[in-house]
Amino acid sequence: MADWEVVIGLEVHAELLTKAKVFCGCSTEFGAAPNSQVCPVCLGLPGALPLLNKRAVELAVKAGLALNCRINQFSVFDRKQYFYPDLSKAYQISQNALPLCSDGHVDVVAGDTVRRVGINRVHLEEEAGKSLHAGEDIMSAAYSLLDYNRAGIGLIEIVTEPDIRSPEEARLFLEKLRQLLQYAEVSDCKMEEGSLRCDANISLRPMGSSTFGVKCEIKNLNSFRAVQRALEFEVERQRALLEAGEVVVPETRHWDETQGMTFSMRSKEEAADYRYFPDPNLYPLEVDPSWVEAIRAELPELPDARRDRFMDAYGLSRYAAEVLTSSRDLADYFEECLGEINDPKLVSNWVMGEVQRWLKAHGLEAASSPVSPKDLAGLLRLVQENAVSNIVAKDVLEEMFATGKPADVIVEEKGLRQISDDAALEAMIAEVLEANPGPVADVKDGKTKAIGFLVGQVMKASQGKANPQKVNELIRQKLQV
Ligand code: ADP
Ligand code: ZN
Ligand code: MG
Repeated sequence: MADWEVVIGLEVHAELLTKAKVFCGCSTEFGAAPNSQVCPVCLGLPGALPLLNKRAVELAVKAGLALNCRINQFSVFDRKQYFYPDLSKAYQISQNALPLCSDGHVDVVAGDTVRRVGINRVHLEEEAGKSLHAGEDIMSAAYSLLDYNRAGIGLIEIVTEPDIRSPEEARLFLEKLRQLLQYAEVSDCKMEEGSLRCDANISLRPMGSSTFGVKCEIKNLNSFRAVQRALEFEVERQRALLEAGEVVVPETRHWDETQGMTFSMRSKEEAADYRYFPDPNLYPLEVDPSWVEAIRAELPELPDARRDRFMDAYGLSRYAAEVLTSSRDLADYFEECLGEINDPKLVSNWVMGEVQRWLKAHGLEAASSPVSPKDLAGLLRLVQENAVSNIVAKDVLEEMFATGKPADVIVEEKGLRQISDDAALEAMIAEVLEANPGPVADVKDGKTKAIGFLVGQVMKASQGKANPQKVNELIRQKLQV
């Protein structure tokens, strides 16, 4: 790749977390019966007039602020014409020349380097409905069904500058964007459920060139992994063309997840095809700067700031702080647990390790963890007091996840309290030493490594309940090393 520079720009749509749609009062609740959440406005019946939802503007402003944008005091809603049945008005209300937010940036950390990706704009628009094709796909379907429940839900479109330089960076940018929008509670950003969607533009140019090459736009990217894979495929496809002296055709391409390839879909629409013009049914949007400042003041602590605070206040490594602030949920969980038991190192190890592993395996967020931060603190207190060993504590946590019982109850019920009593341990040690003359001789010959083996045998004999430090000490005493 040394000869070519990859240039990527993303267009991301995020559904806003409002209760009502953006230009009518219909509910945005997911999963209702088809066409049960519709009205003359979102169906686009003649004569129906849109009325802007203030909460949607507020969330779009929040997004703009979280992405370091300028919030434009004056912006305009335009009609973007297009003709698909999922858009019954035959135009989408969007913003074209004068968007609500402009000129922001997001810093993306890739390894040791921080790369700044410019945000060209964040504008407000509405969702289309959903087509359900009766058959394998749109081409072979005998007919299509239409559900307009989604039509008219508020969306923001975030357009980056062509500042992204690799497929991996594109994925990292998206992860960062999702993190920011989730922290600001603008969108739940579930790519798999379609509340976050991304189209990726990509071109190559000779290294050192100051002009851009011809780009393609890739659609149908349904996961972060798909974004990276599709772009990786496209880098190779475009490079092969350019190196063979051919040209890249500007077009929209479709990512096929199972084949791992992009396919030409259609030639790219030109802006003129959309015939934008200001929607005469809506006033230009004027936002009061003092309202914007009030929204800014309400923004929560954002991920970078929270990460830095975790490093300063709790002495965590950058890596640990990054993992723990990766979602607002997880960061809250960590801090709530810390409120119960003030040991950042211990709590961070458990939250990043066992707790996160379990949550991931069960597809849950920290907020819906069956083990509350308070209950986790209960377990960690037992670890701190040496009442249970680390190994046993892991089993207890498993049991807590499964049954919802608190740690101390499980430990008592199952008799898991750690054995630190010298007499009990000595009896077990005596048996293990007798049964393992070889390793005992090794230890006496100065091969202290064998101590680990003997400790392990005692742990096994005690079903993990022996206090390993204690056992280690007692064995050393006994063998006089
Ligand atoms: P269009 O006129 O095709 O709509 P825009 O200039 O509006 O293109 O940009 C759309 C998206 O494509 C933006 O995210 C932008 O960063 C990206 N983009 C623009 N030019 C290129 C290019 N040459 N290579 C890759 N991405 C690009
Ligand atoms: Zn409606
Ligand atoms: Mg454009």
